Amino acid sequence: MSERFDAVIVGGGIVGLSCAKSLTDQGARVAVIDRGRYQESASTGNAGMIVPSHIVPLSAPGVIAKGMKWLMNPESPLYIKPSADPAFMKWLWAFQRHCTQAHVDHGIPVLRDSILSSLRLLEDWCSLPGFEGAGLAKTGLLMLHHGEKARKENLELAEIADEAGLIVETLDEAGTRSLEPALKTDFTGSVLFKQDARVDPEGLLRAMDAHVRSLGVSIIDGNVRGLQKSGQKFVGVKTDDAVIQGDQLVIAAGSWTPKLTKGLGTKLLLQPAKGYSVTIPSAENGGVDTGMHMPCLVTDQKISITPMPGGIRFSGTLGLQGYDLSVDERRAGPIRRHAELYCGEEHVRPIPTWAGLRPASPDGLPFIGSLPGMDNVWVASGHGMLGVTLGPFTGRMIADMMGGTTPEMNPSAFRIDRFN
Ligand SMILES: Cc1cc2nc3c(=O)[nH]c(=O)nc-3n(C[C@H](O)[C@H](O)[C@H](O)COP(=O)(O)OP(=O)(O)OC[C@H]3O[C@@H](n4cnc5c(N)ncnc54)[C@H](O)[C@@H]3O)c2cc1C
Repeated sequence: MSERFDAVIVGGGIVGLSCAKSLTDQGARVAVIDRGRYQESASTGNAGMIVPSHIVPLSAPGVIAKGMKWLMNPESPLYIKPSADPAFMKWLWAFQRHCTQAHVDHGIPVLRDSILSSLRLLEDWCSLPGFEGAGLAKTGLLMLHHGEKARKENLELAEIADEAGLIVETLDEAGTRSLEPALKTDFTGSVLFKQDARVDPEGLLRAMDAHVRSLGVSIIDGNVRGLQKSGQKFVGVKTDDAVIQGDQLVIAAGSWTPKLTKGLGTKLLLQPAKGYSVTIPSAENGGVDTGMHMPCLVTDQKISITPMPGGIRFSGTLGLQGYDLSVDERRAGPIRRHAELYCGEEHVRPIPTWAGLRPASPDGLPFIGSLPGMDNVWVASGHGMLGVTLGPFTGRMIADMMGGTTPEMNPSAFRIDRFN
């Protein structure tokens, strides 16, 4: 391929496509290279929640103690596979170092502002023709609790969110049911996060794909084998059968990003964090109608429920166990049983469990910025549980920084070398 691009993006998940959209909007000629977006990308089978409610970074005080308890239970939502891999040990070390109140205080305004900005951008994009399939609905989100621990956790979060200026409401059982009469989960109350929303993530990805193509972006199927450089400059991307040349490179390869930065001299602290989902189609698609319309998070079990245009999705679990995408049916059990509660065993049994890898940074904030030691390489990854939520924001930050425009937010919290 002899064509030369202003920007080459590796990775066609929600983050890579968001970068492509913002760069193209700024007039750049862009290529996106991906080896099969709908197969291994985390951006398709996820819970599709757009979550201003998630302003507290995952690395927070108390998380480790809770995690240790969960480790003993084969059905718990957290699993860490013991490993002596130095990259994994370094990641765990950095994670535990960030489980402090100081880090939470630092992370809350960063996440609040970036998430709200992303939501505004997503709304703009979803108002464009061709985005109907993205299924954006500004429903709000119910965080349900049943046991006392979950109730306390939810109320603490509601207080933090309220202090941060988000719109939240604490509801008892009757108040919750009046908002979502179709609930079958056991609960005694909930917190309503009014600004949260949901999408059909695969519908969004397909709409983004078609949209950026219509803007002239070249989407290239290819497995990136290596990155060519000359001194401190990236010059081209090598796939199995071509070299794609560009003036700038964006690495947005989700959980696989460290495999690419390594070749350019940076060991990125990022680990894949596996999650599962089960999606039951609606009656008109051969499944069942549940009557649910609001996304919900069951805090006691860390299971999310997302009604989407063509069905309903149940998701959860976080497994730090490398790049293994196989499904541990025991760990997926609580999610599948929750699906059965709403949809009936006969509708859930034939549906396979989907697995995806969240690209997790140790401090719960993404990596958005230039790659140290290189003049023209950018990283957009590490969004963990927030990739769909923060995709549009990330794309615009990258496009602004690459174009030499002052980005809307100070990018220092997202620096690639912040753990050095
Ligand atoms: C169960 C679950 C539920 C979730 N729920 C939510 C939610 O409700 N809200 C939310 O905001 N986020 C959620 N997430 C997180 C979200 O899905 C991810 O953060 C997001 O999808 C990451 O997007 P990405 O574009 O960075 O990576 P990906 O979508 O994984 O895309 C990376 C792409 O790069 C390609 N690639 C990698 N290496 C190469 C290479 N060498 N050559 C060519 N191509 C390559 C891959 O094939 C892939 O297509 C959830 C995740 C899971 C697993």
